[in-house]
Amino acid sequence: MDIRKAALHNLAEALKNKEFSSEELCREYLKQIDTRDHEIGAFLEIDRENMLNAAKASDARRAAGNILSDYDGLPIAVKDNIAVKGERCSCASKLLEPVKSPYDATAITGLKNQGFIPFGRLNMDEFAMGSSCENSAFKRTANPLDTTRVPGGSSGGSAACVAADFAPAALGSDTGGSIRQPAAFCGVVGVKPTYGRVSRYGLVAFASSLDQIGPLCNDAIDAGIILDAISGVDAHDSTTLPNAVDNYTAAAWEGSKSGSLAGLKFGLPKEYFASGMDAGVAKVMDESIAKVKSLGGEIVDVSLPHTKYAVAVYYIIATAEASANLARFDGIRYGARKDANGLVDTYYKSRGAGFGDEVKRRILLGTYVLSSGYYDAYYLRAQRVRTLIRKDFENAFTKCDLLLTPVTPGVAFKFNEKSDPLQMYLSDIYTIALNLSGHCGISIPAGIDSATGMPVAAQIMAPALGEAKMLNAAAAFMR
Ligand code: GLN
Repeated sequence: MDIRKAALHNLAEALKNKEFSSEELCREYLKQIDTRDHEIGAFLEIDRENMLNAAKASDARRAAGNILSDYDGLPIAVKDNIAVKGERCSCASKLLEPVKSPYDATAITGLKNQGFIPFGRLNMDEFAMGSSCENSAFKRTANPLDTTRVPGGSSGGSAACVAADFAPAALGSDTGGSIRQPAAFCGVVGVKPTYGRVSRYGLVAFASSLDQIGPLCNDAIDAGIILDAISGVDAHDSTTLPNAVDNYTAAAWEGSKSGSLAGLKFGLPKEYFASGMDAGVAKVMDESIAKVKSLGGEIVDVSLPHTKYAVAVYYIIATAEASANLARFDGIRYGARKDANGLVDTYYKSRGAGFGDEVKRRILLGTYVLSSGYYDAYYLRAQRVRTLIRKDFENAFTKCDLLLTPVTPGVAFKFNEKSDPLQMYLSDIYTIALNLSGHCGISIPAGIDSATGMPVAAQIMAPALGEAKMLNAAAAFMR
């Protein structure tokens, strides 16, 4: 069997036609992992026995005519900040290294209910803080397309895993671009759903008002398949939206069949095309605009005037929330403890030894912007500007159906190339406003940068709960 770039929907078809069993399929992916993960480093850990047992159970269901869905028996790899019962959940942090999850995240339950096989722990930036996977406490992940380059982050393990054919799809999380940016760097598809579309229950919180779980995969139809399985209201997460889940798979299929963007208006936010983009990215964006037009889409100019504040606002709000969320990791309740002289000393020693530099930097920043005397000047102000950023998007969506933008200013960079944290933060410019606004976006491969041979992605953004429209357009574009 050929698993290269294999889409879930094609594999599902092959399982149905008895071309191979789920066990054979899982063994094939494990073989690919054995062949290549030593040079890529996508996985922190894999429970093979568990995976193969789940595959055998799926094969038995299929033999008995009891499949849970068409996708029963398909493996999906999981980022190390999403809880899977009985498996480690370390967020690539020494502080949580010994932690095993006693329960499944709701997104994992959704996948298991359809017979998917969630497996493996994928590397990431510690606590999802970073854009290159270089902040993992355990190992570095290389970009499968050029191993001297980063896979992006923080879901770098997830993107590398799909790009290297270690799994047909993976789950990641996106707080400021952590699904879309690594997807772009590795040439795969990645979706950040509308805030509240997918439950955050079982996702280790980084910035609760921004975090969303989403898929990384090979095409827009697969993104629809996974979103259908993980979306919906959840009593365990009061921020989930009660709205019915559209049939995302059907919407993507329709786009893929029609290959047409007729009747759709694509807004180009002028602030995203102003400057700062590398020549290779600019060229692919020009080609993407031409392609949208050739498929019958209309292009209109729009403006998101508060874009220039997005990076600053994000790094205030995200760090503030992170400083509060990470306070629970105190070395007492769970995680790695360094015993010391009394309670406060235990906190200091455990957190001092457990957290890496970037996480400490964020906690310090977040504590600072929330402290009395600075709260009004930084945190409160950032919240107000966040509202303006959201209104920018809402205004833009009165003039167009979707937005077309770049995902990143440049292609995957080399290891250690962005050692200045500020340089790293600034590279999030095209992804983070969408987390602040809460709308949804997809990163799709759109071309190759001729200077480096690395992939360049385009981003399609949609209004709140516009996933169906977005996937429909993405599928048409990708065909
Ligand atoms: N790169 C951004 C950060 O470091 C986004 C991370 C994310 O989306 N988890 O915060």
